[in-house]
Amino acid sequence: PSEEPSVTTPEEGLAGSVEDSEKISAAEKSLLQKVIRKGLVENHHDLEVQRKDPNSPLYSVKTFEALNLRPELLKGVHAMGFDAPSKIQETALPTLLVDPPQNMIAQSQSGTGKTAAFVLAMLSRTDVSKNYPHVVCLSPTFELAIQTGEVAKKMAKFCPHIKIRYAVRGEEISRGTQINDHILIGTPGKLLDWGTKLRCFDLTKVEVFVLDEADVMIATQGHQDQSIRIHKLLPKTCQMMLFSATYDEDVMKFAEMIIRNPVVLKLHREQQSLDNIKQHYVVCKSKEDKYRSISNIYGVLTIGQAMIFCHTRKTASWLAETMSREGHAVALLSGELEIEQRINIINRFREGKEKVLITTNVMARGIDVEQVTMVVNFDLPVDQSGRADCETYLHRIGRTGRFGKSGVAINLVDGPRSMQVLQYIENHFKRPILRLDAEDVDEIE
Ligand code: ADP
Repeated sequence: PSEEPSVTTPEEGLAGSVEDSEKISAAEKSLLQKVIRKGLVENHHDLEVQRKDPNSPLYSVKTFEALNLRPELLKGVHAMGFDAPSKIQETALPTLLVDPPQNMIAQSQSGTGKTAAFVLAMLSRTDVSKNYPHVVCLSPTFELAIQTGEVAKKMAKFCPHIKIRYAVRGEEISRGTQINDHILIGTPGKLLDWGTKLRCFDLTKVEVFVLDEADVMIATQGHQDQSIRIHKLLPKTCQMMLFSATYDEDVMKFAEMIIRNPVVLKLHREQQSLDNIKQHYVVCKSKEDKYRSISNIYGVLTIGQAMIFCHTRKTASWLAETMSREGHAVALLSGELEIEQRINIINRFREGKEKVLITTNVMARGIDVEQVTMVVNFDLPVDQSGRADCETYLHRIGRTGRFGKSGVAINLVDGPRSMQVLQYIENHFKRPILRLDAEDVDEIE
């Protein structure tokens, strides 16, 4: 990763450099999104159901009890702290568990309970008397496969006979060795290898096939073809389900190629809005001046947590260092970190170990941190050519606006160009951004 030049100008944030967000892969992003949510997102979603098969019994349940799960599975679900099914689970589960098995394409944003839904379906269709893989789940990466496997192991806590095996990098097996685990969770390449080249299990005996994170899958080189090759070897009677966090044309084309006669569930995400956000700006003379404003604001931050967005990594690490030196507990999340380090930082922040998270755009999109009550734009979001990036602005500070959740956004402006950007954003959203005196930050609360 190239470093930005070390000369700084007051308006360096407008230099239009390549941002970290472009360096994070779809798979990494998805993993981060999974990790950042400790509980289910409590948004109200709008569920759209398309029934391709008019005979498909489509009903929803309000309780896990109503699903007639095996008692030990129900116990596992409760042990995970799940009291009632989420929106997508409500509708997906009865359909996934009914006989004859139904195929499904389900789309809803990360954190809405998809994994838990298909894992439950996988476990409830596992027959321990069949000592060969008959339930297979495809994940796009090693890490995502492990995440799913961990959910499955937790949920199967009271089903000691169910055997789950990973087919991921690092797992080796010799040609012809017959796998006797019931469930395989792995990446397409490895599963294809085990199923075809090494003949360690019989793809024609698979009864349940899950393709998770289809959007990430098709974004990964080679995965789409491998998935299709696996799919071709499955029997017609196999129950197939595909899950995706996004719903665009490419994903749907792929989904419909893989899943015959599906029930399609789409959970539309609530629009983010600025309605509950108090927006302010502070006029600053320099980077140092911006820092002083933040320090003042940080001082009055009594409840909740804050995220500070910088345009470049250099500014972000400078700010983190400066604030730490003055004894503030801040965390820095930036693009050059390994995925494990990022997860660690996000987890600590989520647990409240740090009140402030400083970041570049790595986290701006797709990840909601509902507990964050204040967002500071140390640099205003701009695109490559230095123009206001309203979409990113909305992603950074917008909330879904339910439950009267409110928040504060502070924009630090350090010159005529960033003032212009601010005015553009204000006009765009038609919501006032009020001037704030950094020496008198009591007004914020
Ligand atoms: P997705 O696969 O859509 O990203 P997950 O299945 O990983 O969503 O669920 C997101 C989070 O919500 C996880 O931490 C999971 O343990 C939790 N969760 C899932 N279903 C429920 C439920 N019915 N009740 C409470 N929490 C749940």
